[in-house]
Amino acid sequence: MDYIQTAIDILQDTEVGRALEAVRDFYDSVQPDFDSFTEETGVKCQAGCGECCAHFIPDVTASEALIIAVAILFGKRKSELQERLKGVVLSRIACPFYDFWSDHHCMIYNERPLVCRMFNSCLSEGKNGEMEFRDCRFNGNASHFDISSLSSSFKPMNDYGEMLENLEGNSAETELLPAAVEREMDRVGNILACLFSDPAALTPVKTEA
Ligand code: SF4
Ligand code: SF4
Repeated sequence: MDYIQTAIDILQDTEVGRALEAVRDFYDSVQPDFDSFTEETGVKCQAGCGECCAHFIPDVTASEALIIAVAILFGKRKSELQERLKGVVLSRIACPFYDFWSDHHCMIYNERPLVCRMFNSCLSEGKNGEMEFRDCRFNGNASHFDISSLSSSFKPMNDYGEMLENLEGNSAETELLPAAVEREMDRVGNILACLFSDPAALTPVKTEA
């Protein structure tokens, strides 16, 4: 069982547990669209490139921050990731989880925010409502494909953004990732302290036969 599912089980029947499950299910449901887009268009990042993460800190919704907070609290690299968050220097504009040596250069790849999933893997809506693809400016191999020839009908980024905003516990409000994740870590930590302040709560209750 993965650590996100473990956290959902522990936090079940709480608002945080429901919000966590909702965002986990949302990512699971939309990721195949981005994978299909990459497969069908052949759009690829250059090997070894991570320039987007080295020059960007995402704004995230509450539930996006929540799943990252849980990944930190329940995952295996807790102290390293917490150090990264605390050491973030906003003037350097690098995501705290950018790491050249991690898979895909991201230390929280499985829980990365929606914008990171969509970047270079999704269509946009132009000024007149037409679908377009905005190639990443760091990608030297400019992508060429005919949108009208795609066999699947891909949704534009805005649609996925609205779906994210409609999740439980979310709003259109976003916040810079480091502050949002630290706040959610505090929130989850407080709930865990309440749930397990009584040691008896960890022991199955025995009933009389
Ligand atoms: S999206 Fe652009 S900057 Fe980011 S890894 Fe791909 S090519 Fe590089
Ligand atoms: S969360 Fe991961 S994918 Fe997104 S900007 Fe940070 S390092 Fe890059």
